[in-house]
Amino acid sequence: MCGILGFTGKGKVREIVREGLKALEYRGYDSCGYALSKSNELTIKKRVGKGKIDELADDLPECLVEKISVIAHTRWATHGKVDLTNAHPHTDCTQKIAVVHNGIISNYISLKRQLENKGHRFVSETDTEVVAHLIEENIKEFPFEKAVMKSFQQIEGSFALLVIRKGGDEIIGARNGSPLIIGANKTGFFISSDINSIARYTDNIMFLDDGEMFILNK
Ligand code: GLU
Repeated sequence: MCGILGFTGKGKVREIVREGLKALEYRGYDSCGYALSKSNELTIKKRVGKGKIDELADDLPECLVEKISVIAHTRWATHGKVDLTNAHPHTDCTQKIAVVHNGIISNYISLKRQLENKGHRFVSETDTEVVAHLIEENIKEFPFEKAVMKSFQQIEGSFALLVIRKGGDEIIGARNGSPLIIGANKTGFFISSDINSIARYTDNIMFLDDGEMFILNK
């Protein structure tokens, strides 16, 4: 087990990530990371080991009045060793799409082969990275939201997934067999694998069902 967290809106980004991930620590983890999409930048930071959440969150802006999207993750490795490269978020070849994932993508080997044959270069040993490259591939044919939906339809297994992109202000996600909860308040939308990690911000909560996808934007 591990955890997933997201926020899109304006507000206390550092606190949301730090306290949100800490509330997920009980689920166990071996590494952690986040991706922040702000203005036209996508910033990624990762740490290996337990007890690194404060250190991870330290570089985040304390509070932002501009709209941002952030996705964060505590990993419990199932595919690939515990190291910085395999820690989430994972990105596509262009480093413009960032993905965090809980669970296992059971058909990742065949998808990875197909994508490698199309020229995609993988850097991690994880099953997760295939999602970022799938989206990158589908974007050649479809608008971003549709490309993400198509990618979700191509993967099998158990997952909770969150996706953001450079220059975009949305968070797109889906679940199948792993929990995912959405909360909303005046500052924005919160997403988590456990209600306790976002309950301090809102009691306006929505539970996703397996097979459901969402797009959160302004
Ligand atoms: N299967 C993915 C990995 O090994 C995600 C594991 C998790 O749920 O943290 O990185």
